[in-house]
Amino acid sequence: MTLTNATPAADPTGATAGSTARERREAKSRRRRNVRAMIVTTLVVVLVLAGGGLAWYAMSEADELAAQNAAARQLLSASDGKVAEETTRVSLSAEIADVDSFLAEPVLNRITTGTADASESLGAATGAVQASMVEFARDEVTTARKSLETAESRARKVYEATEGKGVDDVVRAPLQEALTTAAAVDDAANHSLAGTDLAALEQAALDLSTNRSVVSLATETVSDAQDAITCPAPDQTWDPDSGKIPSSALSPIPWAPTHFVRTDVLDGLIELDAAYRKAFGEHLTINSSYRSYESQASIYDPSSPIAAPPGCSNHGMGLAVDIGGGVETFDTEQYNWLKAHAQDYGWVHPAFAEPNGRVPEPWHWESVLARAGLVNGA
Ligand SMILES: [Zn+2]
Repeated sequence: MTLTNATPAADPTGATAGSTARERREAKSRRRRNVRAMIVTTLVVVLVLAGGGLAWYAMSEADELAAQNAAARQLLSASDGKVAEETTRVSLSAEIADVDSFLAEPVLNRITTGTADASESLGAATGAVQASMVEFARDEVTTARKSLETAESRARKVYEATEGKGVDDVVRAPLQEALTTAAAVDDAANHSLAGTDLAALEQAALDLSTNRSVVSLATETVSDAQDAITCPAPDQTWDPDSGKIPSSALSPIPWAPTHFVRTDVLDGLIELDAAYRKAFGEHLTINSSYRSYESQASIYDPSSPIAAPPGCSNHGMGLAVDIGGGVETFDTEQYNWLKAHAQDYGWVHPAFAEPNGRVPEPWHWESVLARAGLVNGA
């Protein structure tokens, strides 16, 4: 058989035993080389995989940081003009720029540093802006509450002062309703102030402001209705405070201490007097000033236009004085001097008291804060 012939027969003498051992050694050595090759290959594969994994990890970390930075950028824009501390926005802006340049670095550089630090700093800067926005919103709510309180206080005063004074209840009812709503809105605002919910705080500030407008408008409507009844002259304005200014808000005129004006207009009057004294060598002669409701009522004569009805006079607001010493006559040196200079000190001669006005009264002067004075622009 060819097969039998081609294959060396077993060597009974052991002559082929050496070559068999060599073959075994060679095979063993081949196996070792194979194992080493396998080990090296595996190592390379592992290294490549690990490197790829690291790179992949670095990329996904970078994506997260980029998303965080985009959100921070949105917050930066949304917080414009809405933070208590502008420095928090300046810091956030710097952090965003830092992250931008960090992300622009090659991946290999970032593998060694990681994004944790950058992410943490950005997170802290973001948190600071958010906290500052809450603080700002809280301040807004507090300011809006005070503003509503002022409007409410005036509304209540007008509501009470117009009770039984001829203003139709249909006109007064909306004011009462506005006050009821205001109380509820204020309660809700107080509740939101207890928390840190930004949206709730912003809504509360908006509601307070809206309600203040409603209250003010309703107050004005009732006030106008009372004005039409009580102070028919267009230059007179009804005010629930007229003749009822608390003494704490009034000050005596230093050179005429039995006379009083509202404290906030006294300085201007003192300066006006000093200038007048320089020109004429004497103080302004004060003949009349603040009048209580009762004293206005006592001088009011419905058949004469001279004294306004009680509740309608700027004397009752502590914002008017009647001046003598020459000023009580049109076109005197003293009157003309006052016409030329009083406005520099916040005092004016109102249009209704001009020679061609409703009641020509050269002696009657008002603070620019008096509403009638403002309306007439005198
Ligand atoms: Zn007067």
